[in-house]
Amino acid sequence: MTEHVPPIPKQPPAGEADVIVVGAGPAGATTAFYLAQSGLDVLLLEKSRFPREKVCGDGLTPRAVKTLVNMGISVSEQDGWVRNKGLRVIGAGKRLELPWPELASYPGYGLVRTRHDLDETLARRAQQTGARLLEGVTVTGPVLDERTGRITGVVAKAADGGEDRNYRARVVVAADGNSSRLSVAMGLRKRDDRPLGVAVRTYYKTPRHDDDYLESWLDLWDGDRLLPGYGWIFGMGDGTSNVGLGLLNTSAAFGHTDYHALLRKWLEGMPAEWGYTEENRTQPIRGAALPMGFNRTPHYHQGLLLVGDAGGMVNPINGEGIAYAMESGEILARTIVQALARSRRTETERVLAGYPHALSQAYGGYYALGRTFVKLIGKPTLMSFATKHSMGRPALMRFALKLLANLTDPRGDASDRLVNGLSRLAPNPE
Ligand SMILES: Cc1cc2nc3c(=O)[nH]c(=O)nc-3n(C[C@H](O)[C@H](O)[C@H](O)COP(=O)(O)OP(=O)(O)OC[C@H]3O[C@@H](n4cnc5c(N)ncnc54)[C@H](O)[C@@H]3O)c2cc1C
Repeated sequence: MTEHVPPIPKQPPAGEADVIVVGAGPAGATTAFYLAQSGLDVLLLEKSRFPREKVCGDGLTPRAVKTLVNMGISVSEQDGWVRNKGLRVIGAGKRLELPWPELASYPGYGLVRTRHDLDETLARRAQQTGARLLEGVTVTGPVLDERTGRITGVVAKAADGGEDRNYRARVVVAADGNSSRLSVAMGLRKRDDRPLGVAVRTYYKTPRHDDDYLESWLDLWDGDRLLPGYGWIFGMGDGTSNVGLGLLNTSAAFGHTDYHALLRKWLEGMPAEWGYTEENRTQPIRGAALPMGFNRTPHYHQGLLLVGDAGGMVNPINGEGIAYAMESGEILARTIVQALARSRRTETERVLAGYPHALSQAYGGYYALGRTFVKLIGKPTLMSFATKHSMGRPALMRFALKLLANLTDPRGDASDRLVNGLSRLAPNPE
């Protein structure tokens, strides 16, 4: 009698996959998670090794909380997440606490978590779901079809040396962050007609570490110039605060500001007992760009799909990027799953080509509104007038919170309908 030998399951060759995702930040990890959940074979290539630092404010609004919950990630305090109730705004000599709005679409709380922890949590979630995460692998360029110029894979270098290696897939996702070398190599550069921010941050030991509100300071002065941007103080719950500031490129000061000096000067004006002094600083001051309002397009080009910061998806009004990186990851994954399930190449192509439109449907109107907003606050007199006249009006500021954090219900109250209506009316070229 011959012994029955079970068939060996067919494994894809190690260097091939249905989809390659380059970069395992929030955008890449979320894209990979949803692709793997739908049964696709995903290679997630990340140049660093987790856990690792990322320059960030570490603040998560209810939008971001929703994306985490959708992925089945526990966001309890026992698991190390620090909750907040809303935003405290300080400006024009006034201080206003604005709770997160009560909505059906979003939870009523935000979170704070270091990127050291957050990004590893997301990447491991993608891995648990079946994505093949390779850490310490830097993508150095695209592999192209010589005839069509279409991307068919990537060339990568491992951190521990060795030969360059090619990886191949049916589609490739650029989730490699603001500088997105892969997009640039495919001819996709940043758009100068879209807003850009720059932000710096560091950490201080402080008694204010367990603040249950995110705090935002609207008055940032460079001498007698009011700057378009804001400073933040987010309690990390571990004895430190994340303190930083961000500026927009819509003022004359952009590019001519010493951000480190500006941060120190702003903190010099704080009460001494808060402890925001050089002796209490626990990390270097580090900064990076905030690519906003779709500042790199098209989001689909020759087999390459852009997601998160690579596609310039930071909210131009408040500088929030994590929620948009994760949400766009889900939109993208759902598009790819449908595209790769089509039997003919032309059909696959038609579905992939719909991705920019899906993004535009989700954010186009709001980002267009944001582009008008950043132009207006680039004018110091207007910004100072707006701060002075809105800070004394809590109802107006509650509306402003919904607008700046993009938190509304589709059929909510009058203020939700006003924000939704404004987003719909804003001219929205893709
Ligand atoms: C100072 C500052 C403060 C901020 N504060 C906040 C905040 O409080 N809340 C908020 O929501 N947003 C904030 N943001 C924005 C937020 O950090 C980004 O929007 C978010 O990180 C975007 O996620 P991403 O996955 O698209 O890109 P990233 O987080 O940049 O991830 C890209 C990943 O790709 C990897 N990678 C890059 N190149 C390669 C390559 N060639 N090969 C392989 N891997 C590669 C990188 O190592 C990285 O892991 C802040 C930004 C700055 C600069």
